[in-house]
Amino acid sequence: MKPSIPLSRPDVGDLEVQYVMDVLRSGMLSLGPSVPKFETQFASFIGRRHAVAVNSGTSALHLCVRALGIGPDDEVITSSFSFVASTNCILYERAVPVFLDIEPDSFNLSPEQIYRFLSQRCEHNSSGHCINKDTGRRVKAILPVHVFGMPCDMDAIERLAQDYGLSVIEDACEALGAEYRGRRAGTFGDAACFAFYPNKQMTTGEGGMIVTDDDAFAEACRSMRNQGRNSASEWLDHARLGFNYRLSDIHAALGSAQLQHIESLLEKRQSAAASYDERLQGVRGLITPRRIHGSKRSWFVYVVQVPSKNGSDIRDSVLRSLRSAGIGCQAYFPAIHRQPYMKGQFIAPFGALKETEIASDACLAIPFFSTIDAAQITAVCHALKQALQDASRDEHSTARIAVSRG
Ligand SMILES: *Cc1c(COP(=O)(O)O)cnc(C)c1O
Repeated sequence: MKPSIPLSRPDVGDLEVQYVMDVLRSGMLSLGPSVPKFETQFASFIGRRHAVAVNSGTSALHLCVRALGIGPDDEVITSSFSFVASTNCILYERAVPVFLDIEPDSFNLSPEQIYRFLSQRCEHNSSGHCINKDTGRRVKAILPVHVFGMPCDMDAIERLAQDYGLSVIEDACEALGAEYRGRRAGTFGDAACFAFYPNKQMTTGEGGMIVTDDDAFAEACRSMRNQGRNSASEWLDHARLGFNYRLSDIHAALGSAQLQHIESLLEKRQSAAASYDERLQGVRGLITPRRIHGSKRSWFVYVVQVPSKNGSDIRDSVLRSLRSAGIGCQAYFPAIHRQPYMKGQFIAPFGALKETEIASDACLAIPFFSTIDAAQITAVCHALKQALQDASRDEHSTARIAVSRG
C-alpha cells in the first residue's frame, strides 16, 4: 500500500522545470555549462574555494577517500550510526573502518571515544605516522557524519586530527545549511561531501558534491570523476585510474534552481520541525530531537526515539501501526555494524557499541518534508500517540502473561 503521508517528498517547482527544460532544449546534456555554474553557486553558498559535482553523495565520499590516498591496510575512524555509504566508501578502497561509539544526545561520533582510542592505541612511527598498536595498521583519517543534520563537535575532532596527523572528511550529506559555532557544515577538514537524493534538503534527483579549499585535491576529484582525464589535456588522455561519476547538466540545472530558494526550503523544514516539537513534547514513551548548545541543526529528518525494555520491541510495534495507518516511517538508522555483510569488515576497538545500538533500536523517522502541512502533522502525531498507547498496553499484557507463567 502506498502511504497516504509519505516519509519524504521533494519540493520542486516552476523554476526547476524551467531550468531543466532550458538544458534539454540546449542540446548540451552533459559536460555543458550547467555543471560549473552549479558548482560555483554551491561553493559560494557553503563558503569554500572549490565544489566538484558528482553523481551521488556516495561517489563524493569515495573520491575523497581516494584523493587522500586511503588504501588497503589503512584505518579510518568513523561511526556505525550512519547511512551505509559513509562506511562503504572506506571498504571500496579495502581500508578498515574503526567504529567508535556515539554521543547519545547528538547521535554523533564521540570525541571522547576518539581521544580514548588515539591516546591508548596510536604509536607514532619513524615517519610520524599514527600506527594502531593492536593491528599494526596506519590510522589515516577521521570520517565524522553530521547525523540527521546536527553538526559534530568539529573543534574537538579537528584538534585530535591535528595532534595525531590525521585527515578529516566531513560527511555533511545530511547537513546542508547546518552551522557549528557560527561556521557552516562543509567548511571543516580536508574536504566535505553533500548529497542530493530526493529526500535531502535539496535535490538533483541523484547527485553529490565535494567541497574543499585545496586546489590539488579538487583537481584530483575532477579528474577521477571523469575517467581520470587531465583537465588540461586531450579528451582521451587518462592520467590516472578514474570513474564515470559525472553529474549531467540536467541534474545540475535542477540543483541550481533548488539553490535559488534554499533558504526558504530550509526554513520550511525548520518550521515543520518546530510544529512536531510542540505537539510531541512530553508524550510518554517518546523522546523528541535534542538541542545542542552552539550548533544550528539543518533539519534533514525528524527522528523520535521510542525506547523499549527489550531491544526494539516497542519501536517496531509503533512502526507497524503507523505503516498500517498509511503513514510513512522508517527505523533510521539501523547500525551499520549489524548489517550481515559487514561481519569481519570493521574493527570496534572497545567492543560493544552501546550507545549506537541503543539509538539504532529506538530511532524512528516520521514523515518530514518542506511541504508537509499542518493537517498532515496533526494526523501523524495523532497516529503516533495512538500507536504508543497500543504498544505499551501490549507490552504490559505480555509482561503479565510472562509473570503468571513464571
Ligand atoms: C544520503 C547520504 C549519503 C549519500 O547518499 P547518496 O544516496 O549516495 O547520494 C551519504 N551519507 C549519509 C549520512 C547520507 O545520509
